[in-house]
Amino acid sequence: MLVPLTANEDAKAKLSIVKILKCKNPECKAWVREEFATPDQACPMCKGPMLRTMKHLPPLQKKFKAPAK
Ligand SMILES: [Zn+2]
Repeated sequence: MLVPLTANEDAKAKLSIVKILKCKNPECKAWVREEFATPDQACPMCKGPMLRTMKHLPPLQKKFKAPAK
């Protein structure tokens, strides 16, 4: 008998590990994707220092559709 893992596996596959910068202030939930951050990125919320870390995120939805050849 097949175990219906498909839905679960799909959801997992959609997450990827993304490098982010997270605010060091534990009371501040702000974070930005590293690709959108500037060098010496300050927290957009409290202007405090940011910490480089990782986060599991779904990949960015790309609006651009590649033409089929
Ligand atoms: Zn902050």
